[in-house]
Amino acid sequence: MLTDYHLHLRPDEDHTTFEAFFNAENVERYLAAARERGIEELGVSEHVYRFSAALDLWSHPLWVENAVDDIDAYCEFVVASPLRLGIECDYVPGAEERTAALLGAREFDYVVGSVHFVGDGDAAVDHGGFDVWDGAANAEEVWRRYFDAFGACARSGLFDILAHPDLVKVWGRGRPQPEMDLRSYYEPAVEAILAGGAAVELSTAGLRKPVGELYPAPEFARLCAEADIPFALSSDAHLPEKVGFGYDRALELLDALGVGEICVFEGRQRRLVPVGAAAPASRS
Ligand SMILES: [Zn+2]
Ligand SMILES: [Zn+2]
Repeated sequence: MLTDYHLHLRPDEDHTTFEAFFNAENVERYLAAARERGIEELGVSEHVYRFSAALDLWSHPLWVENAVDDIDAYCEFVVASPLRLGIECDYVPGAEERTAALLGAREFDYVVGSVHFVGDGDAAVDHGGFDVWDGAANAEEVWRRYFDAFGACARSGLFDILAHPDLVKVWGRGRPQPEMDLRSYYEPAVEAILAGGAAVELSTAGLRKPVGELYPAPEFARLCAEADIPFALSSDAHLPEKVGFGYDRALELLDALGVGEICVFEGRQRRLVPVGAAAPASRS
């Protein structure tokens, strides 16, 4: 089995309407791409900040600008499609109860928890408009803030899959790099993942970013595998042609780590299944 659970049916650009992307034709484009690549199970995980309900959790300016869609219309559309129903939900410190209420009121198959914004104010690790690196020359400090937020996200127990676990590296050499051994960030993160009980995402999205590397980095992934943390496989595609992007690299890493199973989800229940591409459909 191969999965692609962390998918977006539309690009992150502003002013993309729900109707233009959440329709049967667009879903079919994603399904066709998945069939071609031997991916049996697809789910969609729209960003929570696209929905007006997200403003109960936070009022970041990016959210205020984008939070226009109806989350229940989204759920209804996806449930009626062949896709699993997910959502990518930011961990918002202090909003745990409201997050649990928002998620618990809907029939998600899984929830992808993510950290894009770190600590004080509006700063993000992956958004040029709210760049945490503006005025922050100290790589250790930025990485510490990111991994503190990631640890709290993992421990919250709110999520089923922890997205792009070392997203802080997204700019690669375009930003300062910590000089210390990165295991000092990874090891507490692994403890936090174990405490919260979620799966960790193996995401090929980093291969398309300046860093040019899978999330998590091989050493971080190795520590997860040693701790028996289950992996969920995703591309974080925002376009049909990126479904399953770079999966050969992800499968190589799993193989090298001796990981033979990945997670599948239904109704927020997790199972492990053997990893591997589906055989091409036979023609009789
Ligand atoms: Zn994300
Ligand atoms: Zn995403």
